[in-house]
Amino acid sequence: MPGPRNRQKNRSGPSMSNASPSASASSMSVATIDSLVNEIDEVNGWKAIATFLCTKLKLPDLSRRSGLKKMHANFSEYNKKLNDAYTKNVGNEKILGGIIGIWAKMSVDAVLRNRLVKDGLITKIMPLMDLRSTRLVGLEALATVTHHGGLDVRIEIAKHTPTLLRLLEEFPDNAKINELAVTTVSHSVGSVVNEEHLDTAFVRTLEVSNVLRRVLEAMRRPNATVILVDHGISLITSCTRHCHQDIKSLPPLVSLLAACLRVNDISVRCSALASFIRINLPNSEEENRFFDPAVLMQAVKRRFPDGPLESMVEYGLNNCETTLLIKTTTDYQKAMMQCTQDRDMYTLGKTLASLITRTEFSVSEGGFQYVDERTGRTEYADVGLPFKMWTDSLPYCAKILRQRNSSPRDLDLDDADILEIKFHILRQRIPDAIAHAEKAIKRNPHVAYFYYAIGLGADLPKALRAVKKGLKAKQTTLFVKYYMLWRAIAVAGDMGVTNLANVREGAQEYSEGIAFLMSALDDAKTFFEVAPPDARHMAVIVNWFVVLTIAIKGPELSLDLKELAPAFKKLETARQITEHIGFPYRKTQMRLSREMIMRSYAKAAKDFDSTITYYDTLYTSAYSKEERSVAGAEDTLAAWLEDLALEDGDHDTHCLHPRINSNTVALYRCTYCGNPSAALRKCSQCGKVKYCDAACQKLHWGEHKATCKAT
Ligand SMILES: [Zn+2]
Ligand SMILES: [Zn+2]
Ligand SMILES: [Zn+2]
Repeated sequence: MPGPRNRQKNRSGPSMSNASPSASASSMSVATIDSLVNEIDEVNGWKAIATFLCTKLKLPDLSRRSGLKKMHANFSEYNKKLNDAYTKNVGNEKILGGIIGIWAKMSVDAVLRNRLVKDGLITKIMPLMDLRSTRLVGLEALATVTHHGGLDVRIEIAKHTPTLLRLLEEFPDNAKINELAVTTVSHSVGSVVNEEHLDTAFVRTLEVSNVLRRVLEAMRRPNATVILVDHGISLITSCTRHCHQDIKSLPPLVSLLAACLRVNDISVRCSALASFIRINLPNSEEENRFFDPAVLMQAVKRRFPDGPLESMVEYGLNNCETTLLIKTTTDYQKAMMQCTQDRDMYTLGKTLASLITRTEFSVSEGGFQYVDERTGRTEYADVGLPFKMWTDSLPYCAKILRQRNSSPRDLDLDDADILEIKFHILRQRIPDAIAHAEKAIKRNPHVAYFYYAIGLGADLPKALRAVKKGLKAKQTTLFVKYYMLWRAIAVAGDMGVTNLANVREGAQEYSEGIAFLMSALDDAKTFFEVAPPDARHMAVIVNWFVVLTIAIKGPELSLDLKELAPAFKKLETARQITEHIGFPYRKTQMRLSREMIMRSYAKAAKDFDSTITYYDTLYTSAYSKEERSVAGAEDTLAAWLEDLALEDGDHDTHCLHPRINSNTVALYRCTYCGNPSAALRKCSQCGKVKYCDAACQKLHWGEHKATCKAT
């Protein structure tokens, strides 16, 4: 073996960490450069070249945190050496590539990376793309810098998107070039377009729809790797935030998303669903907000159409929302009139509490009216009760309930709390209602209405936690239950979609996101069982149910979705009821999403049949062999770049999302109430179950103690 190669071999590896900054020369002599040029001729392979240069330039061991620290402490000195070697050897592709490799490796460290980028690293990498021998090492370096880079770095890299797209076009048969170009574009452009405050002018220069078209082409090539596909999908999801028009304007892209709903990998399916839901936000309408009893009364008088009426009778007319609302309005007025006769505030309080938990619009503003004969105006009469306006009776009745006995019964206290909470809600003092409900739960954790109140107004995670617990509460009513179900579905669905859209690869957000969606699907199923056909949120929930079933069941469903026929029937009934009552059948986000999916579902599955099969093989072999990138890539530089023995062990080398199955997802849900969350606590005894908090754990103990003690 020739001399230089041997020397290089001997010096590589651990010995590099022995190089101390004091040993380094401040600048390279002409002689060093000459010998560099001569010796490097003998060195082959990018990993070897990079290691050789590290040794020659007396750099610290870049695979260790301590080495990176040394580099950091003497950055200017070391970097001058690298810069000198780079500028003085512009014609030498080996030296250029090796130095770029070293810079890429330094970029794993955030501080070094920012200094290098400020120093023009990206513009030094780009010329390598046009040299045959350095193209891959340049791309590899760029991908590494982008992968680890923060937003500033990614913006810098996004400016070079046209070069990367050109490579995709020029080298369609080179799997490695395709993979590296797509991952880089996905990270850089994906970050730029997913910013909260979008730099519109810059995004326009990126021509997102063109980027998407090129990436889509690469994703459909038979040499697409699983990393390429994964990054392609995550680019599409990133674009859903601000560039939904660009996605919608590319029908093949929408078809690909629809086809992704039938692949085996559940993360891919759920990400595709998240994309559908997000691109349908901008043109959607809000759900109908208010139900006016007077309007309902008219609708009942006109008699419901046969289909809906049949379903309502089958469900039990007495428990239908419409019936309950009308009945409650009448009962409310009766109770008030009764009170003017008997002045029995205790009975009034009990009646009001039961009405409040029976329907949402139970106690409305009103009073004892009479017409003033002198002025002809309607006035509210003082009938000698402690309140003039009806709703003002709530706090008053609550006081009476609390004072009923020297030691009031629990049920009276429950009702008093319900009245006081409702009073806060009516006066739009939501934070007060929540605070009151939290106090009431401490006294009695079994009253569903208290959780309902928290679910009404709290921030999303808190609301979800509350309603999931409330669904397990024993003292409940149909209305409170289906309200909480609706809230649990909408909030968990929303949070799942948001999680999946902001996911970083290899991150646990996938499991969390899917746990949210599964929770929403569970509750949507229950909603079907308990809610009446005329339930206010029926249409939105059926839409959620359909799209969640499609994403979670995936290829188990038949192409014509006949499994979902009962859901479609419910949806049609809900539409007829809404229209009969006289409300517009709104184009909600969930309705538009479901319609868009269903329009392309069957056709996409046929058109993209081979793509689906291909992705299935890719993902299966990626997970079974841990072989995620192009097999036998021509160089080991990628491995060297990622070889980092960081002492804190906090280093993400996987560029692919983790494999999700039902066990992984179960770890992200409370064993008692099913609330999906990343912040659950384990049972300290067995460590096998997880809970939201001590309250959930306590309530589940009766069931859990047998299995817990058995372990
Ligand atoms: Zn990546
Ligand atoms: Zn829980
Ligand atoms: Zn346990």
